[in-house]
Amino acid sequence: MGFYALPHLSFTCIIFSFDFRFVYTHIWLGIRAVADQKEDFSMALRFEVLARFNRARAAQMTLPHFVCQTPLFMPVGTQGTIKGLTTSQLEEIGCQIILGNTYHLALRPTSELIDELGGLHKYMNWPRALLTDSGGFQMVSLLHLADITEEGVTFQSPVDGKPMLLTPEESIQIQNRIGADIIMALDDVVRTTIIGPRIEEAMYRTLRWIDRCIAAHNRPDEQNLFGIVQGGLVDRNLLHYAIGGLAGGEDKDSFWRVVAQCTAALPEDKPRYVMGVGYPLDIVVCSALGADMYDCVYPTRTARFGTALIPEGVLKLKHQAMAEDTRPIDPTCACMVCKNYTRAYIHFLVAKDAMGSQLLSYHNLYYMMKLSRDLHSSIIEKRFPEYDFFACIRFTNGFVKDMDPPDDAMVICYLFHTLIPLPSKLINSLHHYISKTFCMCLQ
Ligand SMILES: [Zn+2]
Repeated sequence: MGFYALPHLSFTCIIFSFDFRFVYTHIWLGIRAVADQKEDFSMALRFEVLARFNRARAAQMTLPHFVCQTPLFMPVGTQGTIKGLTTSQLEEIGCQIILGNTYHLALRPTSELIDELGGLHKYMNWPRALLTDSGGFQMVSLLHLADITEEGVTFQSPVDGKPMLLTPEESIQIQNRIGADIIMALDDVVRTTIIGPRIEEAMYRTLRWIDRCIAAHNRPDEQNLFGIVQGGLVDRNLLHYAIGGLAGGEDKDSFWRVVAQCTAALPEDKPRYVMGVGYPLDIVVCSALGADMYDCVYPTRTARFGTALIPEGVLKLKHQAMAEDTRPIDPTCACMVCKNYTRAYIHFLVAKDAMGSQLLSYHNLYYMMKLSRDLHSSIIEKRFPEYDFFACIRFTNGFVKDMDPPDDAMVICYLFHTLIPLPSKLINSLHHYISKTFCMCLQ
């Protein structure tokens, strides 16, 4: 493996995942180092790229509980449930994989009980695929309660205040008991604001922990262990480390460029999972760059705040203007909610009754699943460049009014100019559209 000089990126730390049975880990320290490689393919996962369009790919990923089509979005069911929706509704919506949170499930109802009752699939009555995280993300969100050492992470239990040690072995054992189709290796997560030698420490520790995770994994034929690529990029011109985690508050320009770097370097025949990513625009752009899997709490969380995802952007159902609006949330949407309920009714419910956020969660997840399906079919049918980027850009406008949309627009142009060969006519119309839209947006 050679070394690759990195372009001038001030960005930094990435979290990225792929099938770890092909052990292949990156350390970004101004150079790329390949730690190890083993030709050892998992029996529990088959990944077949069906079609490509430039860097975008549509694939079929066969897991023990479901045959998934990618690109795919995975809703987050922290405690073994997507709030307010039944598992048969989730099937109806088209969900392929649901995320469970190891840290929360280990605390309650406990992985031992889940194991005793036949595993999480049976416990929550979900016949399709499941993914559990390592619990490592909680290190970032609960860091003031955590002490990270070579052995693992010591937490103060939020239940009884007692210290709780999560080692790489323990994380894997818990996930083995929960029984998801995909399990994640424990990594040493660093805060986005940390600079200096702590980054290097975290990267090398993550590598050592990966070896311990592999050794601890007891169900390799039934569960796929995904490694997490994590590292820091050094911008030597600036003589400092700037770090971040994807979807950890970094700017879009850095985020998309790092995804582009990673997807270019990761193996072609393995799934690529960008963790914590879930805005429609990000999913379209990351898919254009060759990523396959995404997860985010955004669609369901925003639903609970009364916001619906629609092609034009977002619709705030709490707004007074909805009170007498007899149209569905999105007249072009074929979901159960849009077929049966008016904006006026959901407006009435949204602040008063759990049914309001349930209906909105249903619609929002349907929207995300349709986005995944449309991406898949547009790549298969060789019409990916015609994919409705405009709708996604409108979405961005609707969502991030305070976030300097012109930067996003420039990044999109940059990406489509430099990374993805597109007909100049389309680029021109994209430029034209973006400048027109953003002028309107900024007025
Ligand atoms: Zn709908």
